[in-house]
Amino acid sequence: MNSGPTTPTDKKLTLNNNIMVKIKGAIVVNTDRCKGCQLCVVACPKDVVALAPKKVNVHGYPYVEAARPDDCIGCASCAIVCPDGCITVYKKKMED
Ligand code: SF4
Ligand code: SF4
Repeated sequence: MNSGPTTPTDKKLTLNNNIMVKIKGAIVVNTDRCKGCQLCVVACPKDVVALAPKKVNVHGYPYVEAARPDDCIGCASCAIVCPDGCITVYKKKMED
């Protein structure tokens, strides 16, 4: 008969029961605005972003693309560091 406050163990179980959703990310690069500086490449913790091999945009700059899109976690680090606002990040909840 325990009607007292919830123990830390009980809270952890409740928390774990609520974590049934994974966040998946996706990026869209405005390749015509990209200058290929690769700040986003360095910032990405999952090695998703890379220079598109042997390609240039309409201004003659190399540009980046999502080389490993399935690994994106939607953290937005790439979009935050881009000085030209070239990257848009989308997040999607995935049911377990
Ligand atoms: S949102 Fe995060 S994981 Fe996805 S490409 Fe950008 S930096 Fe990498
Ligand atoms: S930080 Fe921006 S401009 Fe630089 S490579 Fe990445 S998307 Fe292109």
